[in-house]
Amino acid sequence: MKPRKKARSVAIIGAGIAGIATALRLRKQGFQITVFEANERLGGKMAEVKGNGFRFDRGPTVLTKPEYVEELFNLFGKSANDYWKHQSVDPIFKYFFEDGTVINSSRDQEQFAAEVAEKTADSKQSIFKFLDDVEKTHHLTDEVFLQRSLHQFKNYLDWPTARGILNFGKVDVFRSMNTANEKRFSDKKVIDIFNRYASYNGSNPYWAPATLNVIAHYEITLGTYFSEGGIYTIIEALKKLAVEQGIAFKLNTPIQEIEYNGKTVTGVKTTAGTEPFDVVVSNVDVYNTYKQLLPDFPAPKRFLEQPRSSSVIVFYWGVKREFPELGLHNMFLTEDAKAEYQHLFELNKPFDDPTIHVTISSKRNTNDAPEGCENWSALISVPHDSGQNWDHWIAEARKNVLAKLSRILNTDVEQLIVFEDVLDPRKVNKETNAAFGAVFGNASNSMFSAFLRHPNFSSKIDNLFFCGGTAHPGPGIPLCLLSAKIASELIAQKFVPVPE
Ligand SMILES: Cc1cc2nc3c(=O)[nH]c(=O)nc-3n(C[C@H](O)[C@H](O)[C@H](O)COP(=O)(O)OP(=O)(O)OC[C@H]3O[C@@H](n4cnc5c(N)ncnc54)[C@H](O)[C@@H]3O)c2cc1C
Repeated sequence: MKPRKKARSVAIIGAGIAGIATALRLRKQGFQITVFEANERLGGKMAEVKGNGFRFDRGPTVLTKPEYVEELFNLFGKSANDYWKHQSVDPIFKYFFEDGTVINSSRDQEQFAAEVAEKTADSKQSIFKFLDDVEKTHHLTDEVFLQRSLHQFKNYLDWPTARGILNFGKVDVFRSMNTANEKRFSDKKVIDIFNRYASYNGSNPYWAPATLNVIAHYEITLGTYFSEGGIYTIIEALKKLAVEQGIAFKLNTPIQEIEYNGKTVTGVKTTAGTEPFDVVVSNVDVYNTYKQLLPDFPAPKRFLEQPRSSSVIVFYWGVKREFPELGLHNMFLTEDAKAEYQHLFELNKPFDDPTIHVTISSKRNTNDAPEGCENWSALISVPHDSGQNWDHWIAEARKNVLAKLSRILNTDVEQLIVFEDVLDPRKVNKETNAAFGAVFGNASNSMFSAFLRHPNFSSKIDNLFFCGGTAHPGPGIPLCLLSAKIASELIAQKFVPVPE
């Protein structure tokens, strides 16, 4: 092993959840940390919308693996519970179909399976078998593909990796999610329920490897959680911890360029000038890290030319009535999933019968809506931005979403709306500098996608590292937190902090 170099100062570019988590982990190791954030607030995609007495989570709403958040507090000998509270969610999702069927997914496998058996043509046994198989996939993939760098040769020389490689066939990488789910289940409703997990990382279940069925294991078996006070309280709690630990945050400070000398990072450039740093970690979308922050550096085409993930249109609606038939998470499924994904990934336009995820956090946080009202965030997947006429597509989506919700709920939803805000791919880009407004970076539509995410280090520029949903291991809160862990471990392998 090479002797570690000395380093004192680390710049983190971007205060998304991965940037903040990397800052905390490196601070624990003894480095001096400055986090530069372009916005006036921390959190990136984890943001809030407020108005007219309503509060909404602007980005993520489904929280899995809360222990990865808790770990950050434990690093400093603190209890996460003193900073942040969360609760288990059960039932997890209510699935609504046009024929009036409603299926609840539950962490209680017996209950979930019984509900599927009662309301569809599939058996309890088929659900048990599916959940059992994706748990096995989780065991075979977690340590090898998610918990560490896939791009370091030494990581291929130990038993967990050898086991992962020997079992490559067993993780169902050679067929698509849909092919696997069609083989397992006979009822279209059940196939659609499990296929839609592809949308959790902006992919297409008709192309993405069946390995991604493992996402259901996270949500159903490991469990889904609710962040009390909203998902933004995670960011507020982490910020409090970070400030206590002496991490400096520079808000409203976009980095213009990463400075390097020949082959080694030397610092970052802001409008105020250049600041020297020994190590730089980019939490900015990898594509934009190269295009904007390293404009003269030849970008690694292999990573940047991958197809991008889908994006979202989200309507944040304050609704002046309560709907006892709805839960925290509600999914209104399309009647033609194949056509929906074809629109997203081939025709490049939203589908007119979209699958709609309606989150109502006021079901748990009563403060999120005035009395007698609810806060609905209605999310649909749309293609990433390639210059479509989004004003037109937002108007179309609004019409189609309202028509579908009104049809299934047998109520004119539009006349209940007393507050409205909208997120679309242009805003995803503007608010978080996400290239093409793609929410999840590259799509995971090929069997090699895991290997085609950018590593957590640069192999061309020394002392430059990457974290966040567009780098390895991928998007979503849990994987972003793993990216922070991997990036900080790589830095610790290479550098020893100079005592303050
Ligand atoms: C609508 C929506 C719903 C989602 N739903 C879920 C869900 O239910 N569950 C889940 O787990 N995940 C979900 N996700 C995905 C999840 O939110 C993201 O994967 C995760 O938050 C990304 O975090 P990050 O650390 O990679 O970076 P980001 O949150 O993208 O933050 C990057 C930060 O870098 C800053 N930045 C960019 N350029 C610069 C620069 N030049 N200088 C300084 N700062 C810069 C940005 O301002 C931003 O704050 C959802 C996302 C969206 C948008």
